[in-house]
Amino acid sequence: MIRKTRLFTPGPTPLLPAAQFAMAAADIHHRTPEFRALYERVLAQLKAFIGTKNDVLLLASSGTGAMEASVSNLTSPGDRVLVLSAGKFGERWDALAKAFGCQVDLVSVPYGETFSPDAIRKALRPETRAVFVQATESSTGVRHDIQAIGALLKNSGNNALLIVDAITGLGTTHLDVDGWGIDVIIGGSQKAVMIPPGLAYLGLSDRAWKAAETSKNPRYYFDLRKERRNAQKGESSYTPAVALIAALGAALDFIAEQGGGDLAAGRNALIENAETCAAMTRAAVNALGLSLFASTAPSAAATAVLPPAGVDSGVIVKELKRRFAAIVTNGQGEMKGRIFRIAHIGLFDYMDTIAIIAALEQVSAASLNLPGFAFGKALAAAQQLYAERTGQAASVKAGEPEMAHA
Ligand SMILES: *Cc1c(COP(=O)(O)O)cnc(C)c1O
Repeated sequence: MIRKTRLFTPGPTPLLPAAQFAMAAADIHHRTPEFRALYERVLAQLKAFIGTKNDVLLLASSGTGAMEASVSNLTSPGDRVLVLSAGKFGERWDALAKAFGCQVDLVSVPYGETFSPDAIRKALRPETRAVFVQATESSTGVRHDIQAIGALLKNSGNNALLIVDAITGLGTTHLDVDGWGIDVIIGGSQKAVMIPPGLAYLGLSDRAWKAAETSKNPRYYFDLRKERRNAQKGESSYTPAVALIAALGAALDFIAEQGGGDLAAGRNALIENAETCAAMTRAAVNALGLSLFASTAPSAAATAVLPPAGVDSGVIVKELKRRFAAIVTNGQGEMKGRIFRIAHIGLFDYMDTIAIIAALEQVSAASLNLPGFAFGKALAAAQQLYAERTGQAASVKAGEPEMAHA
């Protein structure tokens, strides 16, 4: 059979066709009224997508650029900061903070787990200037409780800024950015907004802007103060990634359409979509007899799955690609071979989810030797869950043949 390549990866994610067309048509100069109109529109759309009253900035970089900008603009060498680390992206915060001379206190938990509020409370000091965390840790498939962390900071009377890498969190998990006291929220283009890599976006609270004024770090390309001044005039400091910005506008239009024209409603629909895809996948994995890696706090961004004992997860990754051109990701770094990850960020629907589950059944049948394996078990579990979650649960129960009702 022919094979159609499909990405099931936590960034880059599948591209929205309308966004690709917008990119191809975007041969406009960036110092023109046409571009200014586009830029102002997209920045306003991003604000609604994130759900914040604060200005949102766009940077021509991958997501890590905005992570770095938040460290370089909001801290000074010698500052005490707290990094909450539960995987590869948490470790990136640690490395970034150290690169800019911060004194880092670290709360770290084993891969696949999330933080206890107690450990965070104990690690907070009166002089802690900032707390860095992921909304969802894409390397392990875990969701962190940002609401609880925000409340904990508020109740402790600590003035630390809460800086959240929501690069795979935005569009997959509910985040009340201003209500929960998130001071910096960071997103990236190759995740839930369904366009290629190359753009980072971030929103800063008034408190964060004050910190940007007092930071002693040198800044040039990633000078957020300058970027904000320019954004207010509909411009970017340097040549913007015009084509990606046009694509982003089209993608945000699509997301708004999912909410009947309202971006916040569209974003909520996108989150619900990811939640449903993730729940279907978890049900399928359990029914197959495989185990979830992040079972206590699974995110809707990506589902991390443990291979059967003695099997390298790379075998499953390779077979899904070889037989079905389905691209799932292996574990990162020392997790390589120990898990595989199926993403649900952005443009994944029911059909994609059923397809990857069916392909996983085929690979299991041929290569995994799972006890009690039978075709259809994983699919039945996913189907049942989908029907219940979307309120379409008919009288037909899983495994009960249609004929029984005739
Ligand atoms: C993808 C991702 C990033 C950013 O990676 P870039 O390659 O710089 O875009 C950061 N954090 C998380 C949680 C991610 O999933």
